[in-house]
Amino acid sequence: MKIDFDGLPQPEPSSMVGFSQNRLIRDSEYRDETSLPAALENPATRFFMFAGSSVIISKGEISTAAFGRSEIESLDTKLERAILLGEAEDGPRIAVPVDVDVETLGEPWAAYDLRALLYSTSVKEEDAGAIAQAGSMLHWHRMNRFCGKCGHASAMKIGGYRRDCPSCENQIFPRTDPVVIMLAVKEDKCLLGRSPNFPEGWYSTLAGFIEPGETMEDAVRRETLEESGIQIGRVKYHSSQPWPFPHSLMIGVHCEAISEDITVNESELEDCRWFTRGEVQLMIEEKHPEGFICPPNKAISSALVGAWAEG
Ligand SMILES: [Zn+2]
Repeated sequence: MKIDFDGLPQPEPSSMVGFSQNRLIRDSEYRDETSLPAALENPATRFFMFAGSSVIISKGEISTAAFGRSEIESLDTKLERAILLGEAEDGPRIAVPVDVDVETLGEPWAAYDLRALLYSTSVKEEDAGAIAQAGSMLHWHRMNRFCGKCGHASAMKIGGYRRDCPSCENQIFPRTDPVVIMLAVKEDKCLLGRSPNFPEGWYSTLAGFIEPGETMEDAVRRETLEESGIQIGRVKYHSSQPWPFPHSLMIGVHCEAISEDITVNESELEDCRWFTRGEVQLMIEEKHPEGFICPPNKAISSALVGAWAEG
């Protein structure tokens, strides 16, 4: 087959979504037991602090999320649970949990839920990407403190990229869960749905986890059928997005609807309907007469809908 690299969209669609600007050099092949201690000793290292799943920032005209060692000492950081994320241009980046109640954080600190961070402009995009990496990693460690094979306490290794069981020698590695997110199209209309927890008027693409033993394309067809009753034919990849809730990768596609009658799965969706390209353009501009809107920029759903709406 001819691979049409020249026909690919520019800029790369994945580069346009939130959490995609992580520029850390991970050096994954070279991580060993010396990597994290060396970074902890390096005066150029900057730390991302987490209270549970929220990142702590310093409020200001331009908020800061990456702090030096002296700046983090006023909080109860748990350096024994620190994770080496990688190397930025100006030095290493480490993620560290902090034992603090976010309700009692004093000035200049503020805690940010990562969903709020996605849509916010308060931290640099490259920091938001590294924070997504950090949030996923810290969650994985919180949930894997014991060996799944024998139940013994496991220990963090190679800067946080592996956990070893000292009892049975089981080794586990951080996981990423693939999720398909798809815009089904039929002629000049597309399929969007509403979850009960969406903001008012908000319609978005359907999505769901890929199950074991399933291709990405089959997951798109199964999830669309289960949620909307719509049958899907061909599937075309568009973009991906790191999704730290807690450690997924969104795989965004356009797909071809081959049926038209919708049956809404009411256990998942409040509503699901077809929208014309003209309606979607109005939704993107927030000018739809019924007040319908699409997810904001930086969500992969917005990238999928926007690319189709442009024609
Ligand atoms: Zn074990």
